[in-house]
Amino acid sequence: MSFASRGSLRSFFNALLSFVYPPLCLSCQRLLEHGGDRVCPDCWNSIRAATRESPLFAETAEKLVASGVVDELVSLYVFEKEGVFQAVVHNLKYAGVQELGLELGRRLGKSFVENGICANAIIPVPLHRRKLRERGYNQAELIARGVSEVSKIPVRCDLVRRRKYTKTQTVLTLEERRENMEQAFEVASIRTSEVRDKKFVLIDDVITTGSTIIACAAVLRASGAVGVIGASAALAE
Ligand SMILES: [Zn+2]
Repeated sequence: MSFASRGSLRSFFNALLSFVYPPLCLSCQRLLEHGGDRVCPDCWNSIRAATRESPLFAETAEKLVASGVVDELVSLYVFEKEGVFQAVVHNLKYAGVQELGLELGRRLGKSFVENGICANAIIPVPLHRRKLRERGYNQAELIARGVSEVSKIPVRCDLVRRRKYTKTQTVLTLEERRENMEQAFEVASIRTSEVRDKKFVLIDDVITTGSTIIACAAVLRASGAVGVIGASAALAE
């Protein structure tokens, strides 16, 4: 079979596929107008914004800054149980819908530009290599790539490593989370000269207690980083 006819066969099957399985919004299940989207504009617009004036934003920023290793917080949404953001992040982390990470990143990147955020590099909070193997990708890295596309700040995944295979944070108490996080990260020893005197943005999908970002920022500071901004697609209570 020629290359051209194979291509037209593929587009025929794609048309058939979208007839049998029309592209539906992952959250409200309505038919999507733009085939490339995974979530409809109404659903995106319905996600509660984490405005800088909101108590959740202020409390989270205060916690991060109080650690002495994070200078500032940038975040977009509020994680609400059963809400649209939960559906987005669930599909991103557990259903392999990687485009959602890039889309969240592009949205977050716009607020980087609006807030005049400058840094030498964006570092996604690393996954342990075992978890990376299980999932196949790091959702925080996808978000970082989207932010980078808009902000033009490069992404570096080779500077910080996850040392320990940490337990799922959601089942732990606050104190256990802190213990779990201690010594979870390290700056790659051959990269310390690239960290010294530099400013970084650390990105995670959701910031809850801030302990992950703080633990990660602490190792960057210990290697001589002069500034660390904490950023996430959403904040959770
Ligand atoms: Zn929708």
